[in-house]
Amino acid sequence: MSEPKRLTAPVPPGGTIGILGGGQLGRMLALAAARLGLRTHVFCDDAQSPAFQVSAAHTVGKFDDLAAIATFAQGCDAVTLEFENVPAATVAHIAQLRPMNPSAEALRLTQDRVVEKDFLRDAGLRTARYFSVTSEDYFETALLMCGSPAIFKTRRMGYDGKGQTRVDGEDDLARAFAGLGSAPGILEGFVDFAFEASVVAARGADGSFAAYDPPQNAHEHHILRRSTVPGRLTTAQAEDAKAIARKIADALDYVGVLAVELFVLKDGALLVNEIAPRVHNSGHWTMEACAVSQFEQHIRAVAGWPLGDPGRHADAVMENIIGEEAEAWEAYARRGGALHLYGKGEARAGRKMGHFTQLFPLTKS
Ligand code: AMP
Repeated sequence: MSEPKRLTAPVPPGGTIGILGGGQLGRMLALAAARLGLRTHVFCDDAQSPAFQVSAAHTVGKFDDLAAIATFAQGCDAVTLEFENVPAATVAHIAQLRPMNPSAEALRLTQDRVVEKDFLRDAGLRTARYFSVTSEDYFETALLMCGSPAIFKTRRMGYDGKGQTRVDGEDDLARAFAGLGSAPGILEGFVDFAFEASVVAARGADGSFAAYDPPQNAHEHHILRRSTVPGRLTTAQAEDAKAIARKIADALDYVGVLAVELFVLKDGALLVNEIAPRVHNSGHWTMEACAVSQFEQHIRAVAGWPLGDPGRHADAVMENIIGEEAEAWEAYARRGGALHLYGKGEARAGRKMGHFTQLFPLTKS
């Protein structure tokens, strides 16, 4: 394969950004692109994709159909994605045709939890203790080294707590291994964190970098419930978080927005849980509390535009609207805050239907 295509000049207004994936993140990317005068073409395998409703063009196709992918890419000036589980071969194929970010290499390093943790360790960043478990035989040794309780996770395709289970001791091993399909996985030491946080940041093709203030995140049933900025993070922790994001983005030679999920320990130290090579739910508050949102920032980066100012002009609390909570849309509309609904038909349990952001006077910057 030849070198991946690179942007030689910014995509001008009127140009087309291709987006792989048509969920709410793709939808909000398309809306941000439209505000800059850019068109979007969304490719997704679901004919009911929320992003289709707000994009100039869309294609329904399978992500591994390289002929359909090539036709899509040729109609775009630059291509990006809204979910990290796009097949690596698809991303590599697009990169031969059009500037594609994040790169196939950035995806390779973040799609597999073991590869990702090794990358973080090599970059000198702290994570939970972890062991790659390739067979049930090795599981017991790994648990001895990790200590109980521990968390067993699939190597690939995990999100919102899917593909992970807690292991409470040796007697629990067989259940945990079989429960995740007896496939190779990663065993992580249980982190007794004070709270969770994340940092959303962007890197431009020229190496420029811009990080948003990191929110404190609360999860319920493994799904993000609320992001609060600034939350309980101290100024020093916020700076640490941004430095971690910069280290990761530089090491990946990354272009676009990425998120780093963090555990904040009781002694104040930060551990990296995982990297999301895309815009992130914990960055939705930037739509109202920053002049340039994470979505616009990502479009700017992948279109070769200068990055915008990530500064926050208000404190913010963002709450997800999940499943049947969306039925209360009129009550949300009456409350003082910004309501976002994603245009999804069916309010299945655990499905992210929208979010609601409230702003408060800036307490610290
Ligand atoms: P993940 O799928 O890795 O993003 O994990 C989802 C959630 O599970 C995290 O946000 C944490 O709340 C929890 N979690 C994941 N890994 C660990 C760990 N090693 N120790 C404690 N909690 C964890």
